[in-house]
Amino acid sequence: MLIFQENIMANEPGPNEVYCSSCGEVIKKEAEVCPECGVKNKVNESSSTSDARKYELEKIVNKDKTNVLLLSIFVTPLGYYWIGKTGLALLNFFTFNYFLLGPIVVPLHTNKIMKDAKKELENM
Ligand SMILES: [Zn+2]
Repeated sequence: MLIFQENIMANEPGPNEVYCSSCGEVIKKEAEVCPECGVKNKVNESSSTSDARKYELEKIVNKDKTNVLLLSIFVTPLGYYWIGKTGLALLNFFTFNYFLLGPIVVPLHTNKIMKDAKKELENM
């Protein structure tokens, strides 16, 4: 009985500790990986990635829709760049504006990206 109780005491997480999502071991909150089982500390990961994601989405949603639309039609790569999609901007640039279909494709695409971002933000 005494041993049993000691075990419980030892497994009580302190103020800066959490339970490992995989093996249940008490580990440091800031730990990236559980020292016991080597699995990623999800508590740490999910909170920081969702914060970063939220920040990213807010940046997209807060852009002026008209500006994004006009840039997407007339300077297609800048439409992507304006909402932080640098990768898509480069892709657009190097495929010669999606083989000249950019003025049709890009406004629809950037509009969809903004809509999706808004939806995802609302569901957070
Ligand atoms: Zn673990």
